Amino acid sequence: MVPGVTLKVEMLGWAGTALVIVAYVPQLHHLYVEKCAWGISISTWVIWLVAGALLLSYCIFRNDTLFTFVQVINITAIMATIILARRGNRICPHHLKTASTTREQN
Ligand SMILES: [Zn+2]
Repeated sequence: MVPGVTLKVEMLGWAGTALVIVAYVPQLHHLYVEKCAWGISISTWVIWLVAGALLLSYCIFRNDTLFTFVQVINITAIMATIILARRGNRICPHHLKTASTTREQN
């Protein structure tokens, strides 16, 4: 590939990586600050973790630095989510409102 094009393609990869990091912020912030794990399925996140481990092995095997980095971020954020969700021991005011509204409807 032409050097300029390669640089642009690399930037797409890094922009995607930045968004992967940003995407975890609202959930982790909610879990950490509110200690509220409302609606979080631990089994889903454990499956994501296994998928991340498999994909990390694949990326290392393929010698792909960018995707190896993305998978390390994913695995770290997934582990943090699982740990914080298990620690979550309350329902925040926002989700308490959602829960009571749902109960009233049923
Ligand atoms: Zn909540």
